[in-house]
Amino acid sequence: MRDSHSARVKVTVSKACPECGAAMRQGRTTLHFERGGSYADVENVNAMLCERCGARSVPGKTALKISDAVERLFRAGKDLDMTGISFHKLAS
Ligand SMILES: [Zn+2]
Repeated sequence: MRDSHSARVKVTVSKACPECGAAMRQGRTTLHFERGGSYADVENVNAMLCERCGARSVPGKTALKISDAVERLFRAGKDLDMTGISFHKLAS
């Protein structure tokens, strides 16, 4: 029987920065999207931030949800006479 357990995959709790290798910390950031002459800003996005070089990393699930929402906004806003959409969630 072949048991393929992946002993080599290391699970790290605190992510290291892909740019400079420093430990990243949980924080919030604003994401900016541009598409066909329009832009959208999404504020207060949970992300991992690097204090050393300023790199940002948004978790895959969150990034997917946001890009999906933004995609819909762009589609909905296509025929409207405007240039940008900002999405704000009130900080609790
Ligand atoms: Zn960094």
